[in-house]
Amino acid sequence: MVFVQSLLVPPKIFFKENSPATDFDGVIADHKNEALKKLNLILGTSYKTSNIKTYNQIINWAIQEGWSEDDAQMLQDEIFFNPDILYKAKPIPGAIELSKWFYESGFSLPIFTSRRDKAHVKPKKFKNIKEATLAWIQEYLPWMPEKDIHIKEVDDEYVREFKPGKINKNDIKVYFEDLPVHAEEILERTSTRVVLISNLIDVESKFGPDRLIRVKGLDGKHPDMFQACALFGIPITPNVAQY
Ligand SMILES: [Mg+2]
Repeated sequence: MVFVQSLLVPPKIFFKENSPATDFDGVIADHKNEALKKLNLILGTSYKTSNIKTYNQIINWAIQEGWSEDDAQMLQDEIFFNPDILYKAKPIPGAIELSKWFYESGFSLPIFTSRRDKAHVKPKKFKNIKEATLAWIQEYLPWMPEKDIHIKEVDDEYVREFKPGKINKNDIKVYFEDLPVHAEEILERTSTRVVLISNLIDVESKFGPDRLIRVKGLDGKHPDMFQACALFGIPITPNVAQY
């Protein structure tokens, strides 16, 4: 566990001066697990989430199975941006408890997600990403007001501006993120501290512990949000019935 002096302040005092916000997929919702179920069906493979090593892993796997680059890109979109699949994601362990603690303690934990609709993805159950995301949050995080849910929605070229823009506009001081590439952009374009929930490539060499805190999972598993809670001393009790 990283030792950071300022985090030794009790969490209710720390977050009073350090407004938090969070990414959604990989931090709150375990989208990769559902995506891989679908991928394994299509490719006839048996990949696990711990096999995902890069951002374009699905594309690489599809190409290995003989798919063209274009088709592999379409497949990755179909799996990661399909509202029907995203809705089925289970919560990351500890994420519900973390959100609940913030709201019950008088804080907010807004979600900034670059989830967006892809024109060629045709869901059956939901109209679009926004509808599926709001339905998921209604089910698992019913205490969240809609004003705290920020979804990118539109698939344009400015995807990398979205999270830094929201973080700066809302004066966020702690941001929970699972993608190293997004963490890096956020660290470069904002002054927030990033809690990186990921085992993937190291970015620590560029940023010190005053900006970047890494939470890694054990035995190659995706880290969970109970680990993030422990980092800040957030007192939560796992609700095993949910998992
Ligand atoms: Mg994410």
